[in-house]
Amino acid sequence: MAEMVRAAVLVEPGKIEIQEFSKPSLAEGGLLVKPIMAGICESDKHFYKGESVQYAGTPRETFGPYPAIPGHENVGKIVEARHPRDRKITDFYGKELHEGDRIIISPDMVCGNCYWCHHSYGFSWCDNLRSYGHIDASVPPHLFGGWSELMYVLPGSHLYKISDDVSNEIAVLAEPMAVTFSLDIAKGHSSLPNEGFTTGDTVVVFGVSPVGLCHLVKSRLLGAGTIIAIDKSEFRLSFVKGFGATHTLNVTKTTQKERNQFIKDLTDGRGADVVVECAGVPEVVIEGIEMLRQGGTFVEVGHFVDAGDIQLNPHRHLCAKSIRLIGQVNLAYTGIMPSVNLMKANQDKYNFNKIVTHKFPLTKALDGLFQFMKPDSMKVVLYPETSS
Ligand SMILES: [Zn+2]
Ligand SMILES: [Zn+2]
Repeated sequence: MAEMVRAAVLVEPGKIEIQEFSKPSLAEGGLLVKPIMAGICESDKHFYKGESVQYAGTPRETFGPYPAIPGHENVGKIVEARHPRDRKITDFYGKELHEGDRIIISPDMVCGNCYWCHHSYGFSWCDNLRSYGHIDASVPPHLFGGWSELMYVLPGSHLYKISDDVSNEIAVLAEPMAVTFSLDIAKGHSSLPNEGFTTGDTVVVFGVSPVGLCHLVKSRLLGAGTIIAIDKSEFRLSFVKGFGATHTLNVTKTTQKERNQFIKDLTDGRGADVVVECAGVPEVVIEGIEMLRQGGTFVEVGHFVDAGDIQLNPHRHLCAKSIRLIGQVNLAYTGIMPSVNLMKANQDKYNFNKIVTHKFPLTKALDGLFQFMKPDSMKVVLYPETSS
């Protein structure tokens, strides 16, 4: 009888099932990887709820798909490799990959041939983008997400071999940490006086679940001064004090006016130098812009799915204060290993392993997802129970 592989399948919005698939045979250049940890991401929460439009208005606009095996934040062990006859499969940096190696798998597969692949320096803007965790699971070989006992890794995927001194927790956080290249972009704008993101700046981070937390700690490591975290979860707000937040504001206990005044009081009435929006709540964009100083930088990374519209006054919100607006979705795949290295170099100061607050067996994927939606969690990961 064919060997079967279990996976958690998001069949349709609101419905996750454990399904079995036959173990696929590998095409040349492909790998079978056993996930060690597969993260549950904010986007998975949206997909579960049916909020599934991504990259709206671009050639790669997608909805869903359903069914899909979620899981795009993956660290796993290679259990089978089908090397081409004339060469070995290698990772992003040319290191040979073999059975038993531990790897991080970049979620995004790019074509390498389109305009964006040629012009966008490794950012995943490809017209023909395919992403693990978001591929139709009804099509063989099915196993294109990390919420599975085995993952089918296609030739040409970006893979990163990791050494023994990288914990599984740091490896599984590499993807959300790589999203923080939005702050590297902001840094790049600071060649002009008082623009971008410079040393000692006051930074506000809206929403400090894992992606917000990653932005918070990254801004600390890039030299921010005062950092204010804003969230509705007391657990998350006290958690981020251990990762560089100097002040916290709970939205359930303060009014917008009070929060705005708090930031003004901290900045001699000027407003924040940088606001990073990671809450994914459309109205927060306006609140965040209101908090900025003149010429401040607004970094928008929270809306990786379409969560609706807001009303914006172009004069008041964009021109009057001459704000700089950086909108960014997804990550730079060139940023995966630098993110690992950044966390490794600072792990004496910050306990990154602690960010993974909950681990659920794969068959309890739905419980894991519900835990992730609760205010008392940071990164929640799934792992397959089978030991091989
Ligand atoms: Zn993610
Ligand atoms: Zn492309």
